Amino acid sequence: MQCPKLCWLSIHKPGEAEPPARDNRANGILVGELAKTYFLGTADCTRLDAAGKPLYAEQIAATKAALLGGAEAIAEAAFSVGGLYCAVDILKRDVNAFSIYEVKSALTVKEKYLTDVAFQKYVLEQAGATVEHIYIMHPDKQYALHGALDVRQYFAAECVDVNKTVTRCLDELPALLPEIEKTIAAGTEPAMDFCRACKDCPFNRYCTRDIPEDCVGSLSGIGEKAYDYYNKGILTIADYAKTKEYAKSTRRARIQAEKVLAQDDTVYVDKTALKEFLDRIEYPVYHLDFETTQKPIPEFEGFHPDESYPFQYSLHIEAADGTLNHREFLGDEENCVRALAEQLVRDIPAGSRLMAYNASTEKNIIKDLARRFPDLAPQLLELSSGFIDLLEPFKKGYYYDPKQKGSNSIKEVMPALCPAMAEAYHRLPVVHNGYEALSMFPRLIALKGMPEYAAVRKGMLAYCELDTRSMVEILKVLRAAI
Ligand code: SF4
Repeated sequence: MQCPKLCWLSIHKPGEAEPPARDNRANGILVGELAKTYFLGTADCTRLDAAGKPLYAEQIAATKAALLGGAEAIAEAAFSVGGLYCAVDILKRDVNAFSIYEVKSALTVKEKYLTDVAFQKYVLEQAGATVEHIYIMHPDKQYALHGALDVRQYFAAECVDVNKTVTRCLDELPALLPEIEKTIAAGTEPAMDFCRACKDCPFNRYCTRDIPEDCVGSLSGIGEKAYDYYNKGILTIADYAKTKEYAKSTRRARIQAEKVLAQDDTVYVDKTALKEFLDRIEYPVYHLDFETTQKPIPEFEGFHPDESYPFQYSLHIEAADGTLNHREFLGDEENCVRALAEQLVRDIPAGSRLMAYNASTEKNIIKDLARRFPDLAPQLLELSSGFIDLLEPFKKGYYYDPKQKGSNSIKEVMPALCPAMAEAYHRLPVVHNGYEALSMFPRLIALKGMPEYAAVRKGMLAYCELDTRSMVEILKVLRAAI
């Protein structure tokens, strides 16, 4: 439904798909397992091989047996008819019909779920069943854990309006299914225009392989509009500079484009603006970076589904003469938020000036801590008001190095300005990015008391320390540029 080329590639060239930067499948599995306890006595028809792939025939046979056995609710209820197959997350037997419960770990209902449930309803009705209601069952973001988890409160089951959206999808299905079969059977991949869905598509790199390096998409602030330009044959920044829209580009985008057009790889510096920014910094400055994680099913008192919380921070305290002092925190139990907040207010005295890269993230984390711990709120809120954002000189175009390749993300800025720091990241033994850090944290807790614990802890601390050390080094480069 998203893109016929995606359908074709998934079947004929699956090896070209790239894994997502952040894999949420584990969360989906956890929430799916919990949903199986929503109705008492649910028959679970999940049948998987050793690699975790569904065993279709076994799943269909188990569903048949559960239906004949009079099961009231069936998890992974599988049906196949006329070459079509579906597995319903939870199938609930009503008086004269069935209800479909589609389980999602996301906190809101997305439009794309509706086609999926429409297809399930279509397959079930082709198989002779009547589907009366369709529910999207997802965690309710308002739910807060108090005592034991209440599954009935945790899930918000939103009844999809069958008469509108799903019926429209159902009307389109009979004509669409032969088209899908034709797409799959084709010997070559379908030619497709780019669309907004390309951004998160696993085949993005494959489909954009012929787009040149100085592409419109690398231009600062262009975002998903780049795909519209590609479809019109406007591939490079040079092509884009000839369009009427170029005149409306931001100052930051024009600085980048002019460097590309002039084939100039020297650094651009607006010395006046950069000096004004640097003059606002009061020393000692506290370079702060948090690592956060979240759990789809809350485990700690008062927490909501998917609520993010910090488990680690690094803090470099830089004096006016460049002297550095380092402080850090890494939780030694999963619920370490209180300990982190207490140490944070001890490590950063009232009235201190803080610095972060993209400071809104750090500010929001501190505000969340203040909401959670009212007794620490006055100190925490004071900290959150004293931030300077190291992103500003890059975002506002006071400093641009063509090696940033158009990006203001610290992932591109840091190696462009401080190549030695980029090397240091590559040499890290355990954790190399924020996603690895958050996946490593539960492992660290599980390793407590075991011989590997010290090495994992050391590796996690080394990674977070480099993050704030990078900020110190970036600031040094900026100071040298005026
Ligand atoms: S990147 Fe875009 S065009 Fe290519 S398969 Fe994905 S959605 Fe389709």
